[in-house]
Amino acid sequence: MNVYDSEQIAARLAALGYQQTGILEIADLVIVNTCTIRAKAEQKAFSFLGRLAGLKIKKPGLIIGVGGCVAQQEGEKILRRVPHIDLVFGTQAIDRLPLLIPKIEDKRCRIVDVALTEKSDQPAAFSDRRLDGSVSSFVTIMRGCDNFCTYCVVPHVRGRETSRHPDHILEEIRGLVQSGVKEVTLLGQNVNSYGKKEGLCSFPELLSCVNSIEGLLRIRFTTSHPKDFGSDLINALKTTEKVCDHIHLPVQSGSDRILKRMNRKYTRALYLDKIMELKDTCPGIAVTSDIIVGFPGETEADFNETMDLMKMVEFDGLFAFVYSDRPNAPAVQFKNKISEEKKIKRLQTLLELQENFTRMKNQAQVGSVQPILVEGISKKQSSGSVNRPQPTVQWTGRTSTNKIVNFFHNDNPQNCADIFPGKIVRTKIEKAYAHSLWGKPVEVKSASAGLKGEESYAA
Ligand code: SAM
Ligand code: SF4
Repeated sequence: MNVYDSEQIAARLAALGYQQTGILEIADLVIVNTCTIRAKAEQKAFSFLGRLAGLKIKKPGLIIGVGGCVAQQEGEKILRRVPHIDLVFGTQAIDRLPLLIPKIEDKRCRIVDVALTEKSDQPAAFSDRRLDGSVSSFVTIMRGCDNFCTYCVVPHVRGRETSRHPDHILEEIRGLVQSGVKEVTLLGQNVNSYGKKEGLCSFPELLSCVNSIEGLLRIRFTTSHPKDFGSDLINALKTTEKVCDHIHLPVQSGSDRILKRMNRKYTRALYLDKIMELKDTCPGIAVTSDIIVGFPGETEADFNETMDLMKMVEFDGLFAFVYSDRPNAPAVQFKNKISEEKKIKRLQTLLELQENFTRMKNQAQVGSVQPILVEGISKKQSSGSVNRPQPTVQWTGRTSTNKIVNFFHNDNPQNCADIFPGKIVRTKIEKAYAHSLWGKPVEVKSASAGLKGEESYAA
């Protein structure tokens, strides 16, 4: 969501005449877009802001702004804590940047704008960013959250849930596709409740509209809340052709006692039922999740229930976090906090277990032929097989199940007409590693879109 917001910030600054640079030292304006979901993210933001002091001394005309969730949470306090900051703008102030920045340029004043009003649904701003040739793009479909999980800062810094109008979303995606994007990831804190408050279409209906956009090859979305995840979306996953075979369904804990204290509004049994229905309806679908360890009051028995749930589900991948207190989140007041030492130990135990499942799931792909959406030339271009043909380019892409696949192609980047970012390449998976797969293209020239059912007409 912050990546998307940063793109929106960049587009608004571009309209004011600013250009992006990768060199911090030559910038006239620096915007730091921050996250406060966990204590560590906030610490990182302040440490980076502190380091900008030297830059401002060297270049007193430099404007430094801080946006995002830390800005929303701390507001004016940031101006006192970090004297070289010129602008603090909250999560709903991005649209107001075209007014705020010229004011600072003219008057050299310091501004705080953290008003949290019901956000008007603005069409997205576009910049030149798409000229960078990226194949995949985020698209926010909802902002804020109404769920108030007891550990979470999001409803306090992003405001109440609002859904964007489908016309704006579709217009934005059509624009992205025109500039070369082949895959979109639709973003919301709980996509299952899309449109309900506003009386717009349902999320599966939105998926169906996005599916009909010509030139778009793949659709992903995140996040689904298990309490609202139902048969309608499960069926949409099966039948909506461009929707990828992957679902991120954060469980947070496997213990009913902890789920209740987290205010998650589902039980372990309900979660497992939904996973079973999902796997029955969509065989081969990849499932990933989020888990928090060390929530206040989490006993060894609670933690073991989480480990047990992981063994039952066998997630393809997992984002695991140690609990940290967040301002205004009710769990701050909860008793029986878990020591840092215990939290880290639990995290390690849990990650070790997950590592086995991730490897096992990757290993199960070996021998299969998968349509890969090529993203670009791999960062590890120089590593890999000793027998590689020369000259060789190492490409990287993803399966529909969101697994990274690297492969060689006997050509060089300047002369690579048959493989390029945005192309679907059918690739035989030859090796599985801890976090990626290794493959070999089996059919380059006639590769087609990675649609459901492709296997049935595979050569
Ligand atoms: N809306 C999503 C959901 O309900 O699952 C989650 C969004 S949150 C931005 C991403 C993840 O951060 C959560 O799923 C949770 O695992 C983790 N998280 C949130 N608050 C946390 C906290 N106080 N301490 C540790 N992890 C936290
Ligand atoms: Fe936070 Fe819960 Fe909302 Fe997700 S659903 S953003 S965890 S309050």
